[in-house]
Amino acid sequence: MDELHKIARAYYTTADKESKSQGRRFFNSIDHDGNRGITIQEYLAYMKRNGHTKMANRPFFDYLNESRTGELEFMEVMTLFYIIKSGRKFCDGCDVLLKGTFFSCTDCFADDDESFNLCSECLTESKYVHPHRQFLDNYIILENMKKVIAAEKEEQMNNQVQNAGASNAIVLNNQSRLTVFATLLQSVVAAATTLSNCTIM
Ligand SMILES: [Zn+2]
Ligand SMILES: [Zn+2]
Repeated sequence: MDELHKIARAYYTTADKESKSQGRRFFNSIDHDGNRGITIQEYLAYMKRNGHTKMANRPFFDYLNESRTGELEFMEVMTLFYIIKSGRKFCDGCDVLLKGTFFSCTDCFADDDESFNLCSECLTESKYVHPHRQFLDNYIILENMKKVIAAEKEEQMNNQVQNAGASNAIVLNNQSRLTVFATLLQSVVAAATTLSNCTIM
């Protein structure tokens, strides 16, 4: 079974009642004739109507249809549900869905609409057009994000102790998101420098 199908199955199996019925509603919204199977026509109509143009094609339908029955069954649609909800990215070099590890431009990744992502082949073979040249894989970015959020929390707590007044605490909360990204970018650039100095490769 493909990795994304496995992930979706794991989430669905362990989900609470409300999340499961959300999944069921999603399925029903695509299943136009209500016969419990999604045809390519129902699939394309739904995907185009909802702006998922990159996935509105036969190869993607076939990818979801792991059972090869020609109609998507419930769990196959849950994979689609997961792909959409998790905001999975497509490679900006070759347009393939990024299923596993991918690389993100450190200058652009904090801005979700403008983020620039590549599969390892496109990065290795420089098959892309982009003004920036610094990329990090999603695991390193995640690890850095954890560190930054922890440091940010600590700083916020220290500030709150210093400025015990309620109004100051509110101002800090509003600013914290922006600060997280600013600090994150700095630490990602630092990590990238360390990596490029690394002699393992
Ligand atoms: Zn690619
Ligand atoms: Zn960039």
